[in-house]
Amino acid sequence: MDTENAFAELGLAPDATEREVKAAWRRLASQWHPDRNDSDGAVAKMQRINQAFEEIRRAGFGAQANADVDTAGAPDNNTPDGFGADQATAAASHAADTQRQRRTLHRKVRMTLEEAAVGCIKVLRGKVTDICATCAGAGHQVLGGNCARCGGSGAIPKRSFFGWPAGVAECEACLGGGIARQPCAACGGAGKMAPRGYKINVRIPHGVRDGDLLHVDGRRVRAEGPPADVEIRVEVSEHAFFKLDDDGTIRCEMPVDGFAWIANRQVKVPTVTGFHGLQLSRDQLSYRLKGQGFPVQRRGTRGDHLVTLVPIFPQQLSTDQQILLDQLLATSSGAGGEALDERLHTWNQGMRAWERSL
Ligand SMILES: [Zn+2]
Ligand SMILES: [Zn+2]
Repeated sequence: MDTENAFAELGLAPDATEREVKAAWRRLASQWHPDRNDSDGAVAKMQRINQAFEEIRRAGFGAQANADVDTAGAPDNNTPDGFGADQATAAASHAADTQRQRRTLHRKVRMTLEEAAVGCIKVLRGKVTDICATCAGAGHQVLGGNCARCGGSGAIPKRSFFGWPAGVAECEACLGGGIARQPCAACGGAGKMAPRGYKINVRIPHGVRDGDLLHVDGRRVRAEGPPADVEIRVEVSEHAFFKLDDDGTIRCEMPVDGFAWIANRQVKVPTVTGFHGLQLSRDQLSYRLKGQGFPVQRRGTRGDHLVTLVPIFPQQLSTDQQILLDQLLATSSGAGGEALDERLHTWNQGMRAWERSL
């Protein structure tokens, strides 16, 4: 029976949808099921109805294939996701037309700002589930011949409480097809194989940003387990004391011993690549370390590292510190309390003149 005749057998136009095909089959099965129709031609008619249904399903239900949930699970146009992962962050898609399943794993990878700045290697572990190659994910194999449960009709009469016929239900053994099938031995009827673990080493290049998408060709990574491309969404954690600007500048506010600052000492400043020595200058609070910030482009230069000092002085001075400060103050003022620095001296003179003018 060709497809056109199959549609005709069900009383349908050749462009009927899957839904219409199934509805027609149910209606005809209900009418012609040998349990309910004892006319001579009922069995033959029921078989033709089933053949027609099988033929249309084999041809793929036209453009409407898979448009709604299939009772038959037609193996040749069913492309289940076929992937189960032990992590919510992972998912996969199949290229249905390739013999060897090339899948893409979607993973989020979290890293520190320092790792993002210099690049890193991340080990991804998880599990993937292959669809069963033997049954192409359908979970069963078609044996041919009539289904033993329903005698090939594909329908089981339903009975009401009182034994009255109450329509027909699809046969569970053949899912309504009327053709004998058996659960797939390779997958035990599940349609998919046992999950397989994978372990992939992925090199994250330097300069990636939060939200970046990286596509890693599965043929270029060191992996254990089934081959897969990996699409990685980069997540860069908030940093405790670095702030990253769009232009690659990294800002850091850094408390520093106020006396060390006054004394023009050298201090250690943290950057994304480690500590850098910084010569303090007591008239300066902000410092720019050129090229010590975040990479601007993959292979390009790095932005600057900006550090802003917050000089910290003790809230409580020890006696020794108080004596030393008094001595220090004496050196910055003359014997009569006169400021020795020109800027302060000028200010003080101006104040005296202002006071007299009041
Ligand atoms: Zn199988
Ligand atoms: Zn059956």
